[in-house]
Amino acid sequence: MYESTILDYAKKLDAQDELRMYRQEFYIQPNTIYMDGNSLGLLSKRAEKSVLILLDSWKQYGIDGWTKGQHPWFYFPETLSEMCAPLVGASKDEVIITGSTTVNLHQLVASFYRPEGKRTKIVADELNFPSDLYAISSQLSLHGFDAEEHMILVKNQDGYTLQEEDIIKAMTDDVALIVLPSVLYRSGQVLDIQLLTEAAHERNIVIGFDLCHSIGSVPHELDKWDVDFAFWCNYKHVNGGPGATGGLYINRKHFGRMPGLAGWFGSDKEKQFDLSTQMIPSANAGAYQIGTPHILSSAPLLGSLEMFGEVGIDAIREKSLKLTDYMMLLIDQELSEYNFIIANPRESVKRGGHIFLVHEEAARICKALKEHHVIPDFRSPNGIRLAPVALYNSFEDVWKTVQILKRIMKEELYKKHENKRDVVA
Ligand SMILES: *Cc1c(COP(=O)(O)O)cnc(C)c1O
Repeated sequence: MYESTILDYAKKLDAQDELRMYRQEFYIQPNTIYMDGNSLGLLSKRAEKSVLILLDSWKQYGIDGWTKGQHPWFYFPETLSEMCAPLVGASKDEVIITGSTTVNLHQLVASFYRPEGKRTKIVADELNFPSDLYAISSQLSLHGFDAEEHMILVKNQDGYTLQEEDIIKAMTDDVALIVLPSVLYRSGQVLDIQLLTEAAHERNIVIGFDLCHSIGSVPHELDKWDVDFAFWCNYKHVNGGPGATGGLYINRKHFGRMPGLAGWFGSDKEKQFDLSTQMIPSANAGAYQIGTPHILSSAPLLGSLEMFGEVGIDAIREKSLKLTDYMMLLIDQELSEYNFIIANPRESVKRGGHIFLVHEEAARICKALKEHHVIPDFRSPNGIRLAPVALYNSFEDVWKTVQILKRIMKEELYKKHENKRDVVA
């Protein structure tokens, strides 16, 4: 028996945790351990309150809510962008809360993919989330290129992680654009954005990153690293709710261009309501908005981002790493006889906000976990993602999760379920 496998040890870590009071700010179902904040973050009381505030301005002001009320809708995307900018290491005018991950990727490829001469290829990777690859393929088709030939997918060597050197090798002189994730959605591997950006720029290639799995969990320095563009969703670690409005980043060196997909909300705000037939784009990242902002899907972000502003992303990252370190320690100590593979990188700099366990019975182990009120995340074909989230999970949650998992394995409780995924996950 190790000291760390005793519940009191977890309780001691909780007592020392400076973020522990934030747990009370979230709606956590009784007797449930939520380990799926990397797919859909939980609702906080502040996010709920901000939805009610925005609804109230609709109730009270009707059309005048665009300019009246506590948070006039016309300026609401900019209000949120300013709150979000510290999470990506950018200034407020380089960020805009708009669209969704996939839509923003379409916008950014439409804007930054400029094939010229033999530079026609887009580099991505075969471990990226499929939606990103679908978007890139369809953008290539719009240019009349065959995606099979023009989308270069960097291969992985172990099924879970990528090597930066393999990515750099793919940066040949026929590449026009690179789109990569910051954190891989399955293995949680953190890519070295700074290294990759430098390598791309040395070769005159534009590079952008999908921050879906890092925003709200891992700090970024997009300005310092000189990344060209980035995009993300706000419903995972940012806790903005199902279908929350996403975000994008445009390095200020690219300000002043026409967006690839134009629409009236990308206009200079002073001129937008002149309703001229000629678009005058906003001088900053706002230019990449297309239509009317999704106010109600953005509203929870007001309360949620306020919390991130208070706590700071560095404190969140520090606790997140402690939680995942503790989880890996317990898995090593308690589950060694059950054939789990910890497939996320173990080093802190390479590990995102979740643990990725591989097991051939993963689908039904996940069902058994849910039956025992632990909410994991199954990723086909054999992966279990467990995300202890800094703002609302405790070390005791981690301890209990591993204990329940141990019981499920020891008593073979998973065997009563079918080893098949459900519709979602
Ligand atoms: C979650 C996620 C998406 C989801 O895209 P939506 O357009 O928000 O549905 C896309 N890419 C990655 C890498 C993701 O993790």
